[in-house]
Amino acid sequence: MKPIKFSERISQLKPSLTLAITSKAKNMKKQGLDVISFAAGEPDFDTPVNIKNAAIEAIKMGFTKYTPSSGTIELKNAVREKLKKDNSLRYSPEQIVISCGAKHALYNIFQVLCDKPDEVLIVSPYWVSYPEMVRTSGAQFRVVGASEKDGFVVDPKLIEEGLTRRTKAMIINSPANPTGAVFGREVLEKIAKIAVSKNIFVISDEIYEKLIYGGEEHISIGSLNKDIERQTLTVNGVSKTYSMTGWRIGYAAGPPEIMKNIAALQSHSTSNPSSISQVAALEALRGKQEMVSTIKKEFAARRDYMVRRINSFKSVSCVKPKGAFYLFCNISGTKLDSISISERLLEEAHVACIPGIAFGSDTHIRLSFATSMENIKVGLDRIEKWLVKNEADNR
Ligand SMILES: *Cc1c(COP(=O)(O)O)cnc(C)c1O
Repeated sequence: MKPIKFSERISQLKPSLTLAITSKAKNMKKQGLDVISFAAGEPDFDTPVNIKNAAIEAIKMGFTKYTPSSGTIELKNAVREKLKKDNSLRYSPEQIVISCGAKHALYNIFQVLCDKPDEVLIVSPYWVSYPEMVRTSGAQFRVVGASEKDGFVVDPKLIEEGLTRRTKAMIINSPANPTGAVFGREVLEKIAKIAVSKNIFVISDEIYEKLIYGGEEHISIGSLNKDIERQTLTVNGVSKTYSMTGWRIGYAAGPPEIMKNIAALQSHSTSNPSSISQVAALEALRGKQEMVSTIKKEFAARRDYMVRRINSFKSVSCVKPKGAFYLFCNISGTKLDSISISERLLEEAHVACIPGIAFGSDTHIRLSFATSMENIKVGLDRIEKWLVKNEADNR
């Protein structure tokens, strides 16, 4: 048989860099090896029981058929209330589309907004899926670096310099994966001003909104003024806040013309996200919120412990993340690139982490604190021991 000629879109897609290492870690575990994983991209807590019960009830009641393809009016209204209360954003139901996770919401946006000559600005270190999603739309991505000494908060001047006449949109992700950076009001105002003056859309991925530790406040860029609101697409979901990654509910809110096209695209592709999951998400947004502060407290304690330990290591250091549940550790002192150190940590120390190259930096590795304190302690002991040996070998 002749080799298959794949579409241009798919030929450009890069397989996930993180997959190789995580599947190897899984295999090692299967063989009975005791591997500690810092690779998780999802909370390690169970979905709260009130949410599960709402879904069970939905099944029993027969809420198991198609819903409107852009989501139920009940869930859209709950999202509207949430956006108004938490984010000072006011939208009508037509301006909201419920999708199969925030990832799907983002994917829809690029499909609807971007074409071949367009460019999308991404702040590096970036979430692993942004470049590939942009590329799949036919557009190109351009990277602007946020520097570690600024706590990985991007300098708006660099955003301005990164714009070309082809720039259609930029992605803002605060709190950020993988760095935990939280963009303050001043920075967001500068970014908004640039976006408005250059007529560029802002896609604001706010999935880690509720996971901020310490005094920092989450600000939705779309809420800053009316002009930026008209150019902003706010993306969020229930995955990270409510430990609901498997339920696949996210949403986007934005200008009516754009949302209308997203709804049309979704109606011909996935149709509605699971009816049952929509009921669960409704309970997540409207039900009791105590779980969120419990999770936050636990994440904060793990973060503090990990940052303290890692910054006591000689050849590795990390900036204290203000949000999300990852540490982006600088490994320059080890003289290894991010894939080599990740492979060696896995093989020799039985600890899994994600190479920074997947997020645009080969001098970092990502360690997630979405794992128990016991695991964290044992895992860090192993890393420390391995580093001491590596440092001795380098001498
Ligand atoms: C996890 C994650 C998402 C997607 O979450 P969904 O499960 O698809 O809702 C989006 N953006 C970032 C930065 C993430 O880390």
